Amino acid sequence: MAHPSIVILTGAGISAESGLGTFRDEGGLWAQHRIEDVATPEGFARDPQLVMDFYNTRRAQAVEATENAAHRALARLQADFDGDVLLVTQNVDSLHEKAGSTDVVHMHGALNSALCGACDHRWPAPLQMQVGDACPACGAPSARPDIVWFGEMPYHMDRIEAALSQADIFAAIGTSGNVYPAAGFVQLATYAGAKTVEMNLDPSMTVNLFEETRPGKASQTVPEWVESILNG
Ligand code: NAD
Ligand code: ZN
Repeated sequence: MAHPSIVILTGAGISAESGLGTFRDEGGLWAQHRIEDVATPEGFARDPQLVMDFYNTRRAQAVEATENAAHRALARLQADFDGDVLLVTQNVDSLHEKAGSTDVVHMHGALNSALCGACDHRWPAPLQMQVGDACPACGAPSARPDIVWFGEMPYHMDRIEAALSQADIFAAIGTSGNVYPAAGFVQLATYAGAKTVEMNLDPSMTVNLFEETRPGKASQTVPEWVESILNG
């Protein structure tokens, strides 16, 4: 293949072994809160303090967390693969960056970023954001976490769909396939003629749409897969 192209989608499962809970984990942060309360614009309008506290807690956890072998293997793939590798993540942590990945596409936003609800300006989030923090650009007391909530449009969709339409390989890692549009990426890649592979602990909702599955923990399956790509 002349200049092959890989698109990778990661989800909460790749960060699970770094101690950041997935959404379904029993007793996890998400289990203690309703999605409608902490991950929707309506929830933020109703109780901004609850939402700020929720993301302040997640941000504090994420800052402490260390990347694992799966994040590191993907950074190595980006560095060493003779072709394009687009790394798209649904995760709002920075563990791909900590592992050395660059140009990570955060389709659901990022904990380390703040967004102005009035003018859409973005700036680095302080560890603890406060309700009513002023926007450094327009001064409005409208700071919010730069997180894509349910009902909002994921970021960078044009770039992601363009890459999927030319992908030779599509890999989904640690994602349950419950949340669209990410859950539909495997179909876009398949239409484009890509080879598709799922690496997940449990079969995802969309496992049947993948050509190949590599079940198991990401810290094992991802380094093995990267090895097979780089040596294949
Ligand atoms: P998820 O929690 O829905 O799924 C995580 C997947 O990772 C599971 O299928 C699990 O089997 C797998 N997994 C767990 N440990 C693993 C390991 N060590 N190695 C490999 N796989 C492992 O997370 P998601 O798919 O990233 O969720 C998608 C998006 O949904 C999130 O970005 C978030 O924005 C949004 N969200 C989802 C929920 C929900 O309840 N699904 C709640 C709030 C937000
Ligand atoms: Zn502003």
